[in-house]
Amino acid sequence: MELRDVTKTYQQGSRTVNAVRGVTLSVDAGEFVSIMGPSGSGKSTLLHLLGTLDTPSTGQAFFENRDLRSMSDKERSVLRRTKVGFVFQFFNLLPTLKGIDNVSLPLLLGRTNRKVALDLAQKSLERVGMSHRATHYPEEMSGGEMQRVAIARALVTNPSAILCDEPTGNLDSASSKEIMTLLRSLPEPGKRSVVMVTHERKAAEYGDRLIYIQDGTVANEERFRVPA
Ligand code: ADP
Ligand code: ADP
Repeated sequence: MELRDVTKTYQQGSRTVNAVRGVTLSVDAGEFVSIMGPSGSGKSTLLHLLGTLDTPSTGQAFFENRDLRSMSDKERSVLRRTKVGFVFQFFNLLPTLKGIDNVSLPLLLGRTNRKVALDLAQKSLERVGMSHRATHYPEEMSGGEMQRVAIARALVTNPSAILCDEPTGNLDSASSKEIMTLLRSLPEPGKRSVVMVTHERKAAEYGDRLIYIQDGTVANEERFRVPA
């Protein structure tokens, strides 16, 4: 994923908000990048630009070497569904669906055959250590378990990017550590990257590097380790 001198402006009534201003940033397949910064500094907008949910107002955004502006909304939507997994602060599991049905949903929306989808969902639940929760509903799970199931859902399409928005923001410190250890295990050299927005320095340090955003620009960068 790459952003080249990207700006993103929003119109709020008569006011123009510069959410992202002139950001150049690339994330290699295999990297785990953390993003921190004050509220309103543009972190979510940046995550959305990296994850093809948004397109730049100016500048260029690439996902696997494809310029997002050269793609139709439909093409971007397919790219997002097949190549990007999202993990949220409040898990966003559907309360009326069992664990396995939540996990298989992205595949079913992509019209994968039901039997194949359930099989892949089962494997994804195994990957995150949640096989025993396949037939449970979200309300029967702890926060940490719900987040694991949500990570299984993000992984089920075998995406090349996992984007996390405050994944530990609603978890106690023990569950946070478990979730961060799991997220840390997801990047694969040449295959999969993880980008995470967080308010927690401890969580951020699980990444390979930390990008600090202020007023829509990269204010600072720190490297913790060299990716595998
Ligand atoms: P953060 O994630 O760091 O809190 P955001 O990226 O959500 O920051 O927001 C950056 C700025 O852009 C804020 O001023 C916010 O109000 C504005 N903004 C974000 N999304 C929208 C939108 N869809 N419409 C209008 N303004 C937005
Ligand atoms: P479509 O147009 O094909 O319905 P959407 O843009 O609604 O596609 O969503 C595609 C995928 O992107 C969904 O699977 C969803 O998980 C994710 N997504 C959509 N909107 C957001 C958002 N605001 N924040 C995070 N993820 C989103």
